Amino acid sequence: MRTALLLVDIQNDFLPGGALAVADGDAVVPVANRLMPYFEHVVASQDWHPPRHLSFADEHAGFEPFQVTELDGLEQILWPVHCVQGAPGAGFASALDVAGIDHVVRKGTDARIDSYSAFFDNGHRQATGLADHLRGHEIEHLVVLGLAADVCVKFTVIDALDQGFAVTLVRDGTRGVDMQRGDTQAAIDAMQAAGAQVADSEEVIVRVER
Ligand SMILES: [Zn+2]
Repeated sequence: MRTALLLVDIQNDFLPGGALAVADGDAVVPVANRLMPYFEHVVASQDWHPPRHLSFADEHAGFEPFQVTELDGLEQILWPVHCVQGAPGAGFASALDVAGIDHVVRKGTDARIDSYSAFFDNGHRQATGLADHLRGHEIEHLVVLGLAADVCVKFTVIDALDQGFAVTLVRDGTRGVDMQRGDTQAAIDAMQAAGAQVADSEEVIVRVER
C-alpha cells in the first residue's frame, strides 16, 4: 500500500509563544523531522487565513477568543488572530525540515468559513484538493501527525477515512488544545473509533522498514 506522511499545521502560531499556542506543541517537530526521510511522499497542511478571517474573535463585536458563535449556519469557535497569510505566525516551525516536504496544501483561505480539516472546509462546501492530489500519486494510506490533535488533526483524520484512505495517527507526534480537559484523549478515541490506527513513531518506523 502506498503511504504518504501528512504533517498537519506545524506552524509558528500553534507552537509555544504563538498566537494560538498548543501546550508542548513544539514536541511534534522532532517527530516530524525523524519520520520524513522514511516516506517517499510528504504533504504538509498550512492554516492560511486572510487578515480579516471570520473565525477571528476580533471580527465579532462583543466576543472574546474561545467563545462560540454561528457562522453561516455553522457553529464557530472564535479564535485569536492566527496564521495570517504571509505573516511569520503562518510560517512552518523554524525547526521543521521543510526541505523534506513535497507538497503544501493551504486551508482556511476563504474569509467566510473555517477549515479544520486539510481536505474540506467545515461545511464540506469546498475541497482543498488534497484528496485529488493523493489519488494522483496513488496513495492509499496516510500517516498523520501535527497540531492540534483535538481540532485540525481530528477533522483531517476523520475526512481522510471518509475519503477511503487508511490512516495511522502518530500518537507521540500530536498535541491537543484541550479547551476542556480530556478533549485530546476523546479526539484520539474518536479517530480510532472511526477506523484510524494509532501508533508511536518508533512503531511506524519499524513498519516502514519491514
Ligand atoms: Zn485557523
